[in-house]
Amino acid sequence: MRINQIVNVDLVKQMNSAVVYKLIDQQAPISRIRISELSQLAPASVTKITRALLARGLIKEVDQQESTGGRRATSIVAEQKAFRTLLIHLGREEIVFAMMDLSAKLLTYQHFNLPDVQNLPQLEDFLLAQLDKFMVDNANKSSELIAIGITVTGFVNGKNNLIENLPYFELAEPWDLVQRLEQRFNLPSYIGQDVRSLALAEHYFGVTKDCYDSLLLRIHRGVGAGIVINHEVFQGYRNNVGEIGHIQVDPLGKRCLCGNVGCLETVVSNDAIENKMQQMLEDGYQSKWLSLESHDIEAICKASNKHDAVATELIEHVGVQIGRVLAMSVNMFNPEKIVISGEITQAKNTLFAAIHKTLESHALPSFVKNTPLVVSELHHEDVIGAFALVKRALLDGSLLQHLLIE
Ligand SMILES: [Zn+2]
Repeated sequence: MRINQIVNVDLVKQMNSAVVYKLIDQQAPISRIRISELSQLAPASVTKITRALLARGLIKEVDQQESTGGRRATSIVAEQKAFRTLLIHLGREEIVFAMMDLSAKLLTYQHFNLPDVQNLPQLEDFLLAQLDKFMVDNANKSSELIAIGITVTGFVNGKNNLIENLPYFELAEPWDLVQRLEQRFNLPSYIGQDVRSLALAEHYFGVTKDCYDSLLLRIHRGVGAGIVINHEVFQGYRNNVGEIGHIQVDPLGKRCLCGNVGCLETVVSNDAIENKMQQMLEDGYQSKWLSLESHDIEAICKASNKHDAVATELIEHVGVQIGRVLAMSVNMFNPEKIVISGEITQAKNTLFAAIHKTLESHALPSFVKNTPLVVSELHHEDVIGAFALVKRALLDGSLLQHLLIE
């Protein structure tokens, strides 16, 4: 009973600190009085919390002229440059290390091809050895490293932070990478699936900032989606949702990595589009802009933008398939906005026209009518999701509490 009470007091303190920090982060510059009004915390509590945040260097005071008169009021802003985060992305074919400050400014970036490894210990050894080197190379930064964010192309259990599945080899048992990193670097670490984390980043820093509910479709080497509901990434009790890349669109199509046939991913991923174009060119389709030597996704998008018939036909076909799957998702979740992320958005005009047309004929008209389709505006798509995980930990109080009690 007593222990529960202590835990609850700590939890309340943590939540109050988080509320104050979040207001400062999102509404800065802001005065203590305004924080008190918006948070409904007593002025004395706000003073106490801001004192602790100031002492830790997480916020700073700035002098600000009040607009109504000559009186100067002290406002508060969040400190962003004094802290940095280590970001790791484990993709299908690559590993990325990066550092960002708390304004999401990229400080350093390193990219490796995934090594030719046979099992998990080999992968972990490679990863940790490279990471040790990266940390040494980037040790002389003037800012304080406060947390690690990790995103994985694969399944992550949100309850115990274990990686349960990777696309490139079978895990004999779940991989506790978070614990390994926390032990090695003594930093709180946060892990998530890459596309779901990207949807969170889009909500924090991108085009869905103004939405309660949104859907992000990421088309790159694979196809995945992240669903944000009421400002939070929808994870589900079973931890993984949004695998719309594995909805079947072609019953007679190609075999997918998942084992099924004709998944959306086998038709609209970058590789699928490039392979299809190769086949069309080999079959004698004529293009002024594309050749067997030059038909990567960028070239195909460029050709489509120049009204090349072959490229346009392929992008339209891709748009229709995406539209059919999005229509199902719209009918299920009725998002306020749909965001498309990936190289294919370089052919936005043709692609979006095809998606719109298909959505209009396949989804509930009243749902589609007010649902804008937009291109992601995020940069550094491979690591910004990992940064969003750290940001979430700051805003929900868990990382903040860790920093305050150090
Ligand atoms: Zn599949």
